[in-house]
Amino acid sequence: MTDIANRIRQLQERIQQALANAGRPLDSARLLAVSKTFPVSDIRQAYDAGLRAFGENRVQEMAEKTAQLPQDCQWHLIGHLQANKVRLAVQHAVCIHSIDTPELLERLNRIAREENKAPSFMVEVNISGEASKFGASPDHVEALLAKHLDGPARPCGLMTVAPADASPDELHRLFASLRILRDQLEPRLGCQLPELSMGMSGDFEIALAEGATVIRVGSAIFGGRTYTH
Ligand SMILES: *Cc1c(COP(=O)(O)O)cnc(C)c1O
Repeated sequence: MTDIANRIRQLQERIQQALANAGRPLDSARLLAVSKTFPVSDIRQAYDAGLRAFGENRVQEMAEKTAQLPQDCQWHLIGHLQANKVRLAVQHAVCIHSIDTPELLERLNRIAREENKAPSFMVEVNISGEASKFGASPDHVEALLAKHLDGPARPCGLMTVAPADASPDELHRLFASLRILRDQLEPRLGCQLPELSMGMSGDFEIALAEGATVIRVGSAIFGGRTYTH
């Protein structure tokens, strides 16, 4: 077995354990393998180990990789989306995790209509309030979604990135607040937001304890990155 296959197996055991500890069904969260910066040959190993959902944070890099990997891979855009990359994103991603302004959502809907696509999307929320982070402020999410529920892009949930230096207590609090925000928005908007995309290699167990349905894990599968973006 390759290193990547081994790490995936160990990771899947940790995910199952974290879900069991939280009293959650074992199929209630999915692993998104974050393959940014890693070569197609590494992604192929993860594919051979059974993974199909991959996350990239640059649209161009995603487009190059989709062309070289099997058609049944599902690509998620998890990084900041620039306005001039929306069309390429719509052509390649089944889900965009990083919608954070009304203008971007309006553009996503317009281009999805033109491309005859119906991508799902999440609103990225800056739950910690860090100045350096992308994401809508929690107060703005309702207005952002309220005007745009008629698609064709389909809202499926909320996403957040926790600060790298947060303590476990702080992480519990931040992830719980994304869940609480979702629980408040559903009845107000009259729509379902089933997905909570939260948790990475260093904090996914805490995210699972707080209700994550999608965890975005890169380095725990593919190893350390020499650079990040
Ligand atoms: C890189 C990245 C991840 C994965 O981070 P790891 O620590 O390598 O697991 C998750 N989410 C986003 C938005 C990222 O940019």
